[in-house]
Amino acid sequence: MAQSSESQVFFFPYGGKRSFLGGLRTLFTTIAHVVAPGDAVAVKVHMGEYGISTYLRPALVRRVCDLIKDVGGKPFVTDTTTLYAARRFTARQYLATAAFNGFTKESLETPVIIADGEEGYDGEWVSIPKQIYDCPLDRTKVAKEILNADSMIVLTHLKGHELSGFGGSIKNVAMGCVTKESKAGQHRANRAELDLSKCTGCGECVEACPFKALSIVDEKAVRDDEKCTGCNHCLSLCPEQAFYLPPGAKERFQVYLAHSAAGVLSQFPDKVAFINFVQDITPDCDCAPPSGLPVVSDIGILASMDVVAVDKASLDLIAKAKPTEKYRHMVSSDILGGINGTDSLIQIRAAQELGLGQMAYQLSELN
Ligand code: SF4
Ligand code: SF4
Repeated sequence: MAQSSESQVFFFPYGGKRSFLGGLRTLFTTIAHVVAPGDAVAVKVHMGEYGISTYLRPALVRRVCDLIKDVGGKPFVTDTTTLYAARRFTARQYLATAAFNGFTKESLETPVIIADGEEGYDGEWVSIPKQIYDCPLDRTKVAKEILNADSMIVLTHLKGHELSGFGGSIKNVAMGCVTKESKAGQHRANRAELDLSKCTGCGECVEACPFKALSIVDEKAVRDDEKCTGCNHCLSLCPEQAFYLPPGAKERFQVYLAHSAAGVLSQFPDKVAFINFVQDITPDCDCAPPSGLPVVSDIGILASMDVVAVDKASLDLIAKAKPTEKYRHMVSSDILGGINGTDSLIQIRAAQELGLGQMAYQLSELN
């Protein structure tokens, strides 16, 4: 975590003469001290939902794993199962999807481990040190294999997100390093509501709910709030659009994200660093195929010890870039938030207030 008035963020811009191989090698020297020889190093990566093509490329991840090995670390590439039911709901499904997307032990020369076990519940509860903005989350359940690591390098594909405006390092840590219970805890902030006047009782949502929280009573859908995890799988599938997000849901969700990130990062004092890949900047996330056309051209790679600064610097670089044709009409310093109907900076401000880092940073360009 940052101590001085400005945090250091290092930036390798795309478009110069050096490839990502050299760029990552130089960037890695700025954060390599988080890895001690012999450390088991969790390399946290979203390996992409089935049908997505803009997730982080395996070659980028392989390069970081090789650099970790060069300083004596023992990397393993890791992520957790999803709360929604698609092709990464269990560890077995996730490993199959990861292999389809190019992430295997052979391609990475590094083990690929799903950190929260086969069903997604293996982990330990840790306290969240502080609560702000009436957030009820005072603990989060960190995935077992991540908690067991000695250090962590968080690799994040920076892109938009339907609920949080954008997905950067804060979200990658908050949602991606915890078990299903804590994913559900965060998603309760934005659980869909049901407008019964629109419900025809067709039963489609009942069949689709992965947690068997819905039933039909008197020709209307009824939700069991104890069973409902807030995964929002039902939100978009109802043919009558009977499910809707309550006002303030996206903003609350971001505050919950910051709290979960605080819990996870409390387990890695001075042993975690963040690398944001600001490329393939789609409006939607790597869970939502198709994730859409890029909003701006590829920008580069950022590295920092400060999770707040690295996300803020990434958004600032996107704000300075020229939008692509489809988004040229959007005049906004927060184009990803604008597209997704929220203020993306809420998660960054909340994370700063929780002591995870600072929004003031110094950007050092490395060519
Ligand atoms: S899918 Fe929509 S219309 Fe059908 S039962 Fe569910 S809420 Fe009602
Ligand atoms: S009812 Fe709850 S658990 Fe079921 S799909 Fe909807 S949000 Fe998910």
